[in-house]
Amino acid sequence: MENKLENRKRKSWKIFYRKLLAAAGVSLFLTGCGAAHIRQQSAVDTAMGTIVSQTLYVRQEGEQEETETADIMRILTQLEEQELSWRSADSEVARINALAAGETEEGSVVVSMSPSMREILTQIWQISSDSQGALDVTLGRLSRLWNLDELAAGETEVSIPGQEQIQSAMRDVGYERVRLAEEALELPPGVQLDLGAVGKGIACDRISAYLCDSPQITGAVVAVGGSVVTYGQKPDGSPWKVAIMHPREEGKYLGVLTLTGEHYISTSGDYERYVTVDGVRYHHILDPATGVPARSGLCSVTIVCDSGLQADALSTACFVLGPEQGLALAQSYGAEALLVEENGTVHMTEGMEKIFSPDEQR
Ligand code: AMP
Ligand code: MG
Repeated sequence: MENKLENRKRKSWKIFYRKLLAAAGVSLFLTGCGAAHIRQQSAVDTAMGTIVSQTLYVRQEGEQEETETADIMRILTQLEEQELSWRSADSEVARINALAAGETEEGSVVVSMSPSMREILTQIWQISSDSQGALDVTLGRLSRLWNLDELAAGETEVSIPGQEQIQSAMRDVGYERVRLAEEALELPPGVQLDLGAVGKGIACDRISAYLCDSPQITGAVVAVGGSVVTYGQKPDGSPWKVAIMHPREEGKYLGVLTLTGEHYISTSGDYERYVTVDGVRYHHILDPATGVPARSGLCSVTIVCDSGLQADALSTACFVLGPEQGLALAQSYGAEALLVEENGTVHMTEGMEKIFSPDEQR
């Protein structure tokens, strides 16, 4: 199939630069003057295929080495390489996928899983069920077929899959055909997991566990791509400010969230990873019901709640569901939501109205 490309390869440096600006945007709002004995540590780095921007406030006694931001980077790298990434051969997800891809005479493949993976998948399956499959991490074959993460980074030639290929990949998608037992996962052969929709949120949960275990850290805000965790407080007592990117105006903000204490914020948008072919935007959030990028009328969804995994899972699910059903799903989880339609209409939960200020009011 021949496609006239409007946006040829999107150069990876351009993407990197844009993300760096976004990350810097988050940290810009976070700088503040610290009390004498509390030092601010800031770092911008990459992990999990995205920019990680950290600002930590650390109580310091004497001349101690600053190790906290490096500790957090190590936690993220381990999470990706040992647990979540289907690309890292040694991760638990890659092991599950390899076994599920193998030949079998039986109707299903049974693979063991760690208690932590069981906990993660149990939470995901609940949200999949509550969203009628709008979130479905068994779409690994489909997401690899579209390959939008790499496409958007300009690493491969753009080729939009045909209907037959999409239908074939969709035969191996279906969270409801996977059974979660106590220590094992039972899945139809061919099913492939892709935890991309929840990975950065899980990362925020792990960061939070580290922060809680580190009494010297009095406050922190860490952004792992579109997922952010806030924790504790700033030395001057002022609230955290987390900027939400404008989905259509590059480098601009839609507005700012004002938060105190611990929160998890995740944004899913069609502007993060996409290519435009013949005037059509192909982005990285797929509708498991159709096998193509979700066209729910939304271009950005931000969720604020008290769990990283939940915030990330809900932002993806709500994006696929669209404004009405998306808002209802978020509310059923007691989460705050901000949904932006392609025509610019913004929908918010009541709680979101209290913490969100549009850009012009800043
Ligand atoms: P996010 O940016 O958190 O919305 O997650 C998008 C990523 O999750 C994509 O890059 C895919 O790897 C994966 N994904 C896309 N659509 C879905 C979906 N409907 N359910 C689960 N995972 C998805
Ligand atoms: Mg997500």
